[in-house]
Amino acid sequence: MSKNGKKVDFDVIGIGAGFAGLALVHYLRNAGLSVRIFDRASDVGGTWAWNRYPGAATDSESYYYCLTFSKELLQEWSWTKRYPGRQETQEYMRFVADKCDMWPYIQLNTEIVDAEYQVDDGIWRVTTGSGDSFTCKYFVSGMGMISEPMIPNIKGMDQFKGPIFHSSRWPKEGLDYAGKRVGIIGAGATTVQMVPEVAKTAASVTVFQRTPNYILPAMQKQMTPEWEKEIKDNYDAIIAKCRNHVFGMAFDSPVGRNALDTPPEERQRIFEENWTGSFRWVFETFDDLLAAPEANRMASEFIIAKMKERVKDPKIADLLAPSFENYPLFAKRPPLDHGYLEAFNEEHVHLVDIKDAEPLVEVTQTGVRTTRNHYEFDIIVLATGFSAYTGALEAFPIKGVSGQTLSEKWRKSSDCIMGVCVSDFPNMFVVTGPQAPFANLPTSIEQNVIWITHCIEKMEREGYDIFKPRREAEEAWTAHTAEIHAQTLMAEGHKVNSWMMGANRQDKPPRVLIYFGGANNYYDTLDKSAEDGFPELEFEKLGA
Ligand code: NAP
Repeated sequence: MSKNGKKVDFDVIGIGAGFAGLALVHYLRNAGLSVRIFDRASDVGGTWAWNRYPGAATDSESYYYCLTFSKELLQEWSWTKRYPGRQETQEYMRFVADKCDMWPYIQLNTEIVDAEYQVDDGIWRVTTGSGDSFTCKYFVSGMGMISEPMIPNIKGMDQFKGPIFHSSRWPKEGLDYAGKRVGIIGAGATTVQMVPEVAKTAASVTVFQRTPNYILPAMQKQMTPEWEKEIKDNYDAIIAKCRNHVFGMAFDSPVGRNALDTPPEERQRIFEENWTGSFRWVFETFDDLLAAPEANRMASEFIIAKMKERVKDPKIADLLAPSFENYPLFAKRPPLDHGYLEAFNEEHVHLVDIKDAEPLVEVTQTGVRTTRNHYEFDIIVLATGFSAYTGALEAFPIKGVSGQTLSEKWRKSSDCIMGVCVSDFPNMFVVTGPQAPFANLPTSIEQNVIWITHCIEKMEREGYDIFKPRREAEEAWTAHTAEIHAQTLMAEGHKVNSWMMGANRQDKPPRVLIYFGGANNYYDTLDKSAEDGFPELEFEKLGA
């Protein structure tokens, strides 16, 4: 029985025990609702439970890659590094679950395979892989926007005799790669993190690269007592910075100057002085790098020169470097480097150009064949990315009023209201769904969950049974998102298979997936929507 007397198992069922699941438990429980979070993983962590590949670490800096609802938690937890590894991040999430007594609300090892809106009752029914079914008034996806693996369609993958798996499905029991020959297909952020770590002990590492990336240095550093004190003394300001930043990061930007208006020597000096690691460089140098093509070209060329300095073999350096002519900085999400480029200076680390020189032909029983060579491996990792933003929501049937699934609805365009609601899917919320910003995820997740909580509180307070996301609001947000997207250089992403446009998928056409109007403006829009009583939604009482 739910809060308002409806015959349901829970007020709210959520899927995904990552940051979203933890935030949902906190905010909804405080609102007096019964909540159950399901996750097919065996632990909390979300991304950090799945991405067990060696070298996995955050690309946001630790101290603002966290939930902010409790000042005590922020003060009590100590990060060890600028970018914590996945284990440390997962430990942090366990710490949050422990401290806030969240475990009773989380059901692990349980996959949801079906979710259907029950039109007559105005409730949702979800079914688990073992056939159990549960009902709820509100259904929330917290499945993550980069969680559904993209398995490539390469001939012969089932022939390979050794382990072959997607990077986000690294064997849970571990995999001894010391002394082994490791082949990695794909050269995105995952591979950039994985190679330096695997290369430490593997006999050889071979990366099959199609499109080179703009690779920024991470410049890892250990936390010091002084730095930690400075952070903890200033947490309110750090949280406010994230809330008010275009990418939800605690960065000092905008900086109030443009690369195009800055004399060349001064520009070079600013680029150099800020070459101190993280995405800060893109945001704390100039304000026009992602908007003005010529400014982007300047930034791109600076990065390429820096990348090449670190690779001894000029031919390998050329292969690793992208070119502005091919695509601008940020049309693909740039990886952060912890020693990837230098790894190619070692004899046992190899790069294969599968775009021009020798395209992939097949996986064989013993390795990978290209048009020119056969490479022998003991292990093959498919670091081939994800069906971003919509993939997890399309992976099993989620059916709305008309009976169509989200996957069917999103055949050509992934329409959504502010990344949180979808028309034809009443009483359903998505945390960081399509057409939400791409930003520091814990910041966006918390902002979404606050909006969701306010919406449910209104429903319960005013005795509503159903909210229906309005199609006009969805059309308006979709058009607004598309208009902004077209003005950015990210719109070039479809030329280079960017997941940020779903252009890495074979099954659906590229599309606008991300709101690039600034995460800060987006959070303002969410707040305004809540203040105005959620005009994007139509509220109904059953039988009224
Ligand atoms: P990705 O950036 O999409 O890279 C996938 C790679 O696989 C690309 O090099 C792609 O080549 C290649 N590929 C895909 N299909 C292929 C095929 N059939 N044959 C050959 N190559 C193929 O994926 P990712 O590296 O997993 O990263 C995805 C995103 O996850 C990142 O951008 C980031 O947002 C997130 N991530 C975050 C972190 C972090 O924050 N710590 C770490 C890792 C990942 P093309 O480029 O030519 O398509």
